[in-house]
Amino acid sequence: MTVQETLKDLVAIDSVSARSNAEIISYLAKRCETAGFTVKRFPYVDAAGVEKINLVAVAQTSISDPKTELALVGHTDTVPFHPAWIEALRLTEKDGELFGRGACDTKAFISSALTAVERTDLSKLKKPLALVFTADEEVGCLGAKRLAQARAFTARYAIVGEPTSLQPMRAGKGYCLAEITVRGREAHSAYPQLGASAIFRAARLLGRIEQIADELKHDQRAGFDPPYTTMNVGLIEGGTAKNIVAGECRLTLEWRTIPGQESDYALDLVRQAAADLHHQDADFICEIDAARADESFETRADSELVRFLEGSSGQASGTVAFGTEAPSMIDLDAEAVVFGPGDIRVAHRTGEFVPIDQLNECVGILQQAIVRFCM
Ligand SMILES: [Zn+2]
Repeated sequence: MTVQETLKDLVAIDSVSARSNAEIISYLAKRCETAGFTVKRFPYVDAAGVEKINLVAVAQTSISDPKTELALVGHTDTVPFHPAWIEALRLTEKDGELFGRGACDTKAFISSALTAVERTDLSKLKKPLALVFTADEEVGCLGAKRLAQARAFTARYAIVGEPTSLQPMRAGKGYCLAEITVRGREAHSAYPQLGASAIFRAARLLGRIEQIADELKHDQRAGFDPPYTTMNVGLIEGGTAKNIVAGECRLTLEWRTIPGQESDYALDLVRQAAADLHHQDADFICEIDAARADESFETRADSELVRFLEGSSGQASGTVAFGTEAPSMIDLDAEAVVFGPGDIRVAHRTGEFVPIDQLNECVGILQQAIVRFCM
């Protein structure tokens, strides 16, 4: 099968994160087994009670080695699509580009990886090669995190498929979230002295958070845009009526950490600020619930994998600003690089697409990678 035919099959299987990915996994497992891989499923039930499966397919060598030399990693789930996009599940070609949900993110990479291994004579492998297909990437890289937690495999090198226009990305910022609830005491607004406004108190905390965001600019890491940990309060909600002193105010705080900085570092500064405010005013009470902490990642610029991908793609390595499964692969001992066809800026959009020439080029690069690392 050609890479384009494979992509057509994959796009035709609806694998939006909310659904079970069992159908696309069974398609991929069959293709891997036919190619000579031994497949292992890692099923779990997600928070909504839906069955999800991670798949690890390994092509062993005569000398069995517990550590995979090279893992090609792609997530099987996609973001949802608007019902008005009637061709979302039908791969459509126009002007050298292939359109469909997941065509770019990240079924293009999966198709390239499958095609590359099918064109390789696996009997010549000297070191184990793995294909890893995950669930729930688009909702927090949950499948990959489970694989890492279970130590499902270990690898020396991992290429994590994401649309990077075939530029190797060797580092990425972390992604963290916290929900902050500032408590007050409700009262009739004619008698504010009888209550404590959660909104006025939240405003004090917001002022401090803005200062912290400024302080974070001093710790810089070259190669990122911007080169420091950023902070954002994207949501705020509080109070019940114009004439009631607000009893509660909730904020959603997000921060994106540079590599080398603990994901808790920024949050600890916020906790410290909240403790200060409480010290100044006993009525300042807030709860901070750290909801998510995806680690940053960095693979050395002189890693063999970075150098290989720079050479074969003709592009210098860079950094990504979006969350990926690379930190989970690093937890599995791998030097990880994010790499794949298509542009992240068109991913998740209605009408996402992958350029055909990049798709074909990716197949060639992955074939070379298998030869370089596993033969
Ligand atoms: Zn993706």
